[in-house]
Amino acid sequence: MRILMVTAEFAPLAKVGGLADMVAGLSAWLATEGHEVRVILPAYGVTEAPALRRATPDQAPPGLEIFELIAPEHFGDPAVYLGDDRDALRFALFGEAALAHAQADGFHPDVIHAHDWHAAAAVALPGPWTPSPPTLLTLHNIGYQGIFGLDALPDGPLREALRDPTVAEPRLNFLAAGIARATTLTTVSPTHASEILTAEYGAGLEGLLRERADRLHGILNGVDYGLWSPAHDPLIEHAYSAETPDGKAHNRAALLEALGLVVDDQVPIVGMITRLTAQKGIDLLIEALPGLVAAQEFSLVILGMGEPRYVEALRTLAEAHPGAITLLEAHDERLAHRLLAGSDLLLMPSRYEPCGLTQLYAMRYGTIPVVRATGGLADSVQHFDPATGEGTGVVFRDYDVGGISWGLGQALAWFAAPALWSRVVANAMRTDFSWAKQGPAYLALYLPSNDRLNRIE
Ligand code: ADP
Repeated sequence: MRILMVTAEFAPLAKVGGLADMVAGLSAWLATEGHEVRVILPAYGVTEAPALRRATPDQAPPGLEIFELIAPEHFGDPAVYLGDDRDALRFALFGEAALAHAQADGFHPDVIHAHDWHAAAAVALPGPWTPSPPTLLTLHNIGYQGIFGLDALPDGPLREALRDPTVAEPRLNFLAAGIARATTLTTVSPTHASEILTAEYGAGLEGLLRERADRLHGILNGVDYGLWSPAHDPLIEHAYSAETPDGKAHNRAALLEALGLVVDDQVPIVGMITRLTAQKGIDLLIEALPGLVAAQEFSLVILGMGEPRYVEALRTLAEAHPGAITLLEAHDERLAHRLLAGSDLLLMPSRYEPCGLTQLYAMRYGTIPVVRATGGLADSVQHFDPATGEGTGVVFRDYDVGGISWGLGQALAWFAAPALWSRVVANAMRTDFSWAKQGPAYLALYLPSNDRLNRIE
């Protein structure tokens, strides 16, 4: 099949979060399966004359071609998202240009696969082909919809195509416009696919999503174990695997040394690698930490950037509890890998989590996830049962101090019992969320079935 991937992020060229990893991993897997995958993303921070630039790495599988759209007026800034009204025109034009360039280049897609609101214009617009190819819009995070006043775009077909169909008030909503028009919709875990039909998780889109529920599928993200495996990760100090787990202790020691921390072997290192936003449960963490630190012994290391109010609160907590709480305010790919390898636990107390990738990575690194039962966290982590020896982590239910304290307490109890601990670690390291497992579900949706052909207007 010929697949046109339209995305704002693609690892490692442009990465803010899991979106970049997911699109890169899925695209590479599709190409290794023999499909023709053309990826288009903006060339951030490039100020050359407008053009389309080939950015396919040498080691890319045949069939994968990556193009960056150079448009200095809109993407000359190195930031992926500017976070203001300029993003409306940036990503409306990007979606339109992605289609126009594919057509001009003679790439006639069998399916257009767009990701999140930044690429939704590519499915909301009619496009240059007759008949229009089927479209698939993946909802990685409906907390971000691309809502703007009408005047964020000039009057014309783009503005009309991106109007919000869910409210009477005239405004733009890129994601809602895409959801209304895409042939097929996916989100990144089965649990989240049902969650977003409810008012609690639907972010105002639940009505529209319920209308289209027959077209909505939940597919858990895959992992590119070529990049995320402690057996051959060039970014960590000591290789290890489920068969040779000893290297993990050396990575732990190297991490502590690099951070200037002294932490006893009996005290677990709890890592977090996360955007510091409300979604990630940072408000709950801040509320819970004083009590957690007083009651239990652990060393929390947070690698993250985000909202200033959270950064400040965490900084204050870190200053009050040196050694017990460390804040690394950075976006650092190497440190993310080293923290995964060196930590004993990974904490994800998310308020909502469409899929979550860090918990999937953590398991392969023998780092036990402590997650709240929501979205992809609920679908990927199995609560460990000491009686049967089955399970891969801690899953706590309630988004409150009681929930997170109970979750961490469970993990600390198992950590203190070496036989239980080596069992849960071994279980986690043997999990397999490879694209070979998750990818075929996308292919099944790309392939036109009679049912879908009949429904395409
Ligand atoms: P989200 O996409 O919602 O941010 P995910 O768990 O799906 O959450 O993906 C997060 C991705 O971003 C992972 O690859 C993680 O390693 C990376 N990441 C998050 N914060 C940082 C950081 N401060 N430094 C390096 N990588 C980070």
